[in-house]
Amino acid sequence: MRWNGGTIGGRDPVTALGANPARSAGSADLARASPSANPVGSTQGGLVELKRSWVAVLWGIGLAVFAVPGASADSGGASAGGAFASQAAVISAVACASRCATVDSVKTGSLVRLRGKRMRSVRKIVFLGARGPADDVTVKARRARTTSVDAIVPDKAPSGPLMAINRDGAPSRASRAAVAVARPGSSSGPLDIKVVGRRVFVGAARPARVDVLAHSAMAVMVTLVRLSDGVTVTSWPLGEMATDVVRTVTWDGTIAGVAQPPGRYEFRVAPQVAAQAAQLAEPLTAGAFELVDHKFPVRAKHNFGEGMAAFGAGRNGHVHQGHDVFAACGTPLVAARGGVIKLNQNQANAGNYIVIDGAGTDVDYVYMHMQERSPLAKGTPVMTGQAIGKVGQTGVASGCHLHFEMWAGPGWYTGGAPIDPLAALKAWDAYS
Ligand SMILES: [Zn+2]
Repeated sequence: MRWNGGTIGGRDPVTALGANPARSAGSADLARASPSANPVGSTQGGLVELKRSWVAVLWGIGLAVFAVPGASADSGGASAGGAFASQAAVISAVACASRCATVDSVKTGSLVRLRGKRMRSVRKIVFLGARGPADDVTVKARRARTTSVDAIVPDKAPSGPLMAINRDGAPSRASRAAVAVARPGSSSGPLDIKVVGRRVFVGAARPARVDVLAHSAMAVMVTLVRLSDGVTVTSWPLGEMATDVVRTVTWDGTIAGVAQPPGRYEFRVAPQVAAQAAQLAEPLTAGAFELVDHKFPVRAKHNFGEGMAAFGAGRNGHVHQGHDVFAACGTPLVAARGGVIKLNQNQANAGNYIVIDGAGTDVDYVYMHMQERSPLAKGTPVMTGQAIGKVGQTGVASGCHLHFEMWAGPGWYTGGAPIDPLAALKAWDAYS
């Protein structure tokens, strides 16, 4: 199965939360096309994942413990403790849209965009800062639309989560995402970048990603270099960058449908020399990440069986064509490698099983004895690391376990041959 390559975020850096890279254009096309021709698959600016763990700690108990800032003064009669006529907005993401301080921080005057549900009635945005109302700063909402609303970062806005308040005072919960407000005077070079995710799985829902921000107008090129041999794998011409607007480039670990070898890779970001489009100035900034090609499929305590569990062990009338990994029934299973569901069936010996045609590879991956039928129908695309079912003991199985097979091309009972998967399983288990 062939997969896509990379994507470039559109001019609006705050579009499409959780974009699916599988729907984007191939990287070979991207390298030729202008970025504006490839708006698919853009992800938002860098703030969303920022300090999520911090927020989770700080705001773990939710908003119920303190008074609703601003509501009593501006609610038009509704009291903070009373019922509101309107349904509160729900904030799902927060990102800097323009005049950003850095790739992952805002400053006074930055335009932030909140995305979520029921945004049209939002009239005020509160920068909540630390817990309690003492440092809260409230501003007027701008451009309230169904799924988004904007605000200009006011003077003295604190870093932290945001809250959206409706015309009648109905408050949203504090956002899970936080904004980081940069200190005045903190500056970076002419190009600011952030590599999001230090370990990336080939074909996973979360691709390799670099966010890029230029502090002055310039044409920018992003190249991807494999560090083991210095080869430039692909590049993304971003064209003329708008000043202080975050652009996002993602890469799913494949080139022209072929998975690239695991190892260290680096995004290098440089101004593009105008006279010779292909020529780059020295990279101004760079950031590395590790590409890994599989995720260990059994997601809790497990052990590798021996003897009868091993590949090649004798069975009644045949040999064992996979390896058994023992784990409690109900243990979540994920796709070691993404691809497409080739089969989803129940069979007397195998029980509930699926076969995944591995993306960017000739290999088929087989998961047997699952507790229930996988919810993924034949033909469904699967990402590396995506949930596929649970460990069980359906079919002929003694004890709860995953019977795992790998078949070389052309694949499982379609002309391929089984491979002993134990070494691979152990390698994946060591890092994932
Ligand atoms: Zn088995």
